[in-house]
Amino acid sequence: SCVISPKSIVGDACASFSTLDRLNQNIRPAVNDLTHSTDFFSHYRVNLFHKRCPFWNDENGMCGNIACAVETLDNEKDIPLVWRASELGKLEGPRAKHPGKRAQKERPLKPLQGKLGDNVGESCVVEYDDECDDRDYCVPEDESAASKGDYVSLLRNPERYTGYAGDGARQVWDAIYRENCFQRSSFPHAASLGKTTKPKGPAAMDFKAVIDAAGRQQNLEQQRQQNPLTPFVAKTGLEYEDECLEKRVFYKVMSGMHASISTHLCWDFLNQTTGQWQPNVNCYVNRLHKFPERISNLYFNYALLTRAIAKLGPYLSRHEDYTFCMGDRDQDAATRAKVLAVTEKAASVPHIFDESLMFTNGEGPSLKEDFRNRFRNVSRLMDCVGCDKCRLWGKLQTAGYGAALKVLFEFDNSENPEPPVLKRTELVALFNTYARLGSSLEAIQKFRGMVEEAEAAE
Ligand code: FAD
Repeated sequence: SCVISPKSIVGDACASFSTLDRLNQNIRPAVNDLTHSTDFFSHYRVNLFHKRCPFWNDENGMCGNIACAVETLDNEKDIPLVWRASELGKLEGPRAKHPGKRAQKERPLKPLQGKLGDNVGESCVVEYDDECDDRDYCVPEDESAASKGDYVSLLRNPERYTGYAGDGARQVWDAIYRENCFQRSSFPHAASLGKTTKPKGPAAMDFKAVIDAAGRQQNLEQQRQQNPLTPFVAKTGLEYEDECLEKRVFYKVMSGMHASISTHLCWDFLNQTTGQWQPNVNCYVNRLHKFPERISNLYFNYALLTRAIAKLGPYLSRHEDYTFCMGDRDQDAATRAKVLAVTEKAASVPHIFDESLMFTNGEGPSLKEDFRNRFRNVSRLMDCVGCDKCRLWGKLQTAGYGAALKVLFEFDNSENPEPPVLKRTELVALFNTYARLGSSLEAIQKFRGMVEEAEAAE
């Protein structure tokens, strides 16, 4: 009966936590099976090295640690057959051509539809670098054979402690939270604070508001250093509880993503004395345990993604709507069965998140575009992350949340009766982000147990 709704504020979550823990226990084997044992969901194509940080010069923020490096599959033979460049070319059949932008625009957008061959999903091949559908919440990752992306095995590049820290990392997180300073119609990208050009005209006022907010943040941060229990939520410079629903949700999604990253780096931490990878309880206590609202935001994200995945189930289940990018019917069917095992379990906890409350009342509708633009900005900020592995997982997770928001707010939308297309990269990102959150929930439970044990032993 206790639902995590976008309206819930810190501390509201009550019994939902245990509901979500139970769901996670139940669904984890299926999620792991999907993301570990299918080629489709264990490989991600991402442009990691060819985009510059669009907001500031990031040359000094690079991480030189070996742990930051990503092992890409440079040798074509290591890439699953169907995604090798030569195979991508084959997907449309020997004579077929890439449909091109015009053809793509002319074709009605149907959910996950538009097969090019018997077993070939359109999403395998039709991808444009940086081309956004108006309804995208992220700058999409490009999957076309001509793009500068790299295939990465997610299994061989686990998200864990890398040692990336300091001013570079700090600058990215600060810029992400600054995106929470919504303005009504025009908005200066808060991340542009790092740029030297001053916005002119009305934007200059907005710019000042952002700087004022940043100043307030700094003051609060100083207070927080003197008293670590000063709630971080105040650091955004916004009176959090008074903020409209959409702004709170934006903040929660970012903070929940941050909490999940922190959980993984604490859980899979390198003990530099012993050289062992192991959980670091102090790391957990200092980054999460002392900040219940961060953990609450992590659960909030889990509920949000559960709802998106449940909602997507019916689209993915219809064979005629979506064919996974496998040349092999059996493999395709096996992948679909694994996807459905997850979506069906996700749907077993109904009403876990009610997205219909958002973008409806007050300034809600006018905030939607702003919300989407800010989210896209966060996805661009990932190119400013100076550690390859962190950038990989940062990009994947922002793309995963972007896909979830697209499913929640753009599917079944009366303004846009035609649901948008989901690209392969978006699907892979969505399910892997869900897997990350599930693993965070599990790690948090274990960490809690370790803290309790340590307290009992004192
Ligand atoms: P940070 O985590 O950098 O946090 C900065 C400030 O934000 C904190 O002082 C606090 O005031 C606030 N804050 C912290 N957590 C939250 C929260 N959940 N909600 C709201 N506010 C919060 N490092 C790795 O080892 N492995 C990785 O895979 C990795 N991935 C990263 C991905 C991205 C996109 C970024 C930007 C960084 C990543 N890092 C990773 C670095 C890591 O997140 C930290 O920045 C680093 O460990 C330094 O931590 P810190 O203690 O200075 O605080």
